[in-house]
Amino acid sequence: MLIPCLACEARFLPDEYFGACSDYDRGLDRVSWTCPSCGNHDDLRVLPGELGFGYPHGRRFHVQDRVRVPGLRRQRGELRLDITLDAGNWKVRSRPRQPV
Ligand SMILES: [Zn+2]
Repeated sequence: MLIPCLACEARFLPDEYFGACSDYDRGLDRVSWTCPSCGNHDDLRVLPGELGFGYPHGRRFHVQDRVRVPGLRRQRGELRLDITLDAGNWKVRSRPRQPV
């Protein structure tokens, strides 16, 4: 399955798509994504069977748009998010925590 960029409608193999994820935020439960094609920046939440696109609002992350990705799974860790789809596995690391 190919996963689309919501901005330019380029479509990516899971390896390309999840390789472009960065900065897992455990508190908001979201990762950052930068489109390898158009450079668009999105915030998204990896959910079982789908990706949720949205924006941070205070201490919560609001999901606005959902893209179904059948078979998508995730496991939340302290310092990283593990994403699994079919035989593929990707790890998105947390950015070192900023002093508040
Ligand atoms: Zn794009």
